[in-house]
Amino acid sequence: MDLPEAFLTRMRSRLGGEFEEFLRSYRGEAVKGLRVNSLKCSAEEFASLAPFPLEGRVPWEKDGFYLSEEKPGADVWHFAGLYYLQEPSAMCAAPLLGVRPKERVLDLCAAPGGKTTRLAAEMGGEGILVANEIDPARAKILSSNVERMGIVNCAVVSASPEALKKKFPSCFDKVLVDAPCSGEGMFRKEPNALPEWSEGNVTRCALRQREILDCAAELLSAGGKLVYSTCTFAEEEDEWQIEAFLARHPEFSLISSEKLYPHRVRGEGHFAALLEKREGERRKFPKSRFRENRAAEGAFAAFAADFFSSPKNRPLAVLPDGRMYLLPEDAPDLSGLRCLRLGVEAGEWDGKRFKPAHALVMAGKKGDFRRFLSLSREEAKRYLRGETVPSPLADGWCAVGAGDFPLGLGKCVDGVVKNHLPKGLRLFSRDN
Ligand code: SAM
Repeated sequence: MDLPEAFLTRMRSRLGGEFEEFLRSYRGEAVKGLRVNSLKCSAEEFASLAPFPLEGRVPWEKDGFYLSEEKPGADVWHFAGLYYLQEPSAMCAAPLLGVRPKERVLDLCAAPGGKTTRLAAEMGGEGILVANEIDPARAKILSSNVERMGIVNCAVVSASPEALKKKFPSCFDKVLVDAPCSGEGMFRKEPNALPEWSEGNVTRCALRQREILDCAAELLSAGGKLVYSTCTFAEEEDEWQIEAFLARHPEFSLISSEKLYPHRVRGEGHFAALLEKREGERRKFPKSRFRENRAAEGAFAAFAADFFSSPKNRPLAVLPDGRMYLLPEDAPDLSGLRCLRLGVEAGEWDGKRFKPAHALVMAGKKGDFRRFLSLSREEAKRYLRGETVPSPLADGWCAVGAGDFPLGLGKCVDGVVKNHLPKGLRLFSRDN
């Protein structure tokens, strides 16, 4: 691998006697991993279900496994949201935040969602998780991962940290800043990133991180915790960034920090620091308000009585364009921000008819549905390709799953389930 000369000089002076070992690590392959989604199943259960080899546990993540397989992203269990493919060292940051149910949590730089989905797993559906991604295209990928993993208490937004700071000053108990960085820990995984590396880019990244961190400081309430992480080794973006932040913000103190290097651990490399805001204000979220829409609410209630085995107690929001959401408790007011998802997308109301959304199935468990069609993995692949499947169920909307794990919607008519999996989520290749 052709590593930039200036990068090597910097690493040599940083690592001293360890430099040669660090350099040797580039001869190996990138380390791969997955994190089991504990909202859907336990790590032990997944280990017994996995159709590809798991190569041991990641020491710093209770639900993390090492992988050798190239593309387990096309597996049925991936579609069912049982796991998230994540580089193992990147798994070290989110657990540091010590998130608990009922908290108000912000993931400020969230796409594609590796850390958001871990935070959500710890929250177990209680409290509110705001996952923000400034880049609208990346925010869509984030939103789709939030849906796939069955997260019910997440608002996915696409805003600048400045806009969020104005809307939610001193509102969050926990904030994660997984900052855009020069990506020195990504060279083995994404060699295409190499030409983008320069000392100038390290400086530019450090400046941007400083601005993001200053916003994060204002978003956090007194007593709140902040985790700052990067996948780079540059001190300007890591240790020095934190030192400078503490100098600007005496209300914060550093609790711990860790730096993972590829020659010391089995991972590509990461930096993470945990800070606490000792003083400041603590404010409530501005509350969300939605106009009543009796007709749409009635249509959803009728659908829900037939589709779910027990009533859904979450409040329902009907947006002016007809999209409907089952809201998390304490849903914040997101007016003025670009919001892609607030809780669970329930469906759409066109003024006459209600059409249920895929997310309703992904957010549930087998027992939540009156009609659940349990398919074998082979049958599930056919469903994922968009095919119809035979069914012994009574006519009506049903949830379709692989084994016990929901995969999507179907509509049973005369012994056949019509496929209602959104086209963009289908499996295309017949080899898969
Ligand atoms: N946390 C994500 C995960 O675990 O999957 C990875 C986040 S990635 C390292 C950093 C993200 O910050 C990118 O998605 C990037 O689009 C976003 N970003 C870029 N510029 C930003 C800015 N000025 N403010 C906030 N986020 C920014």
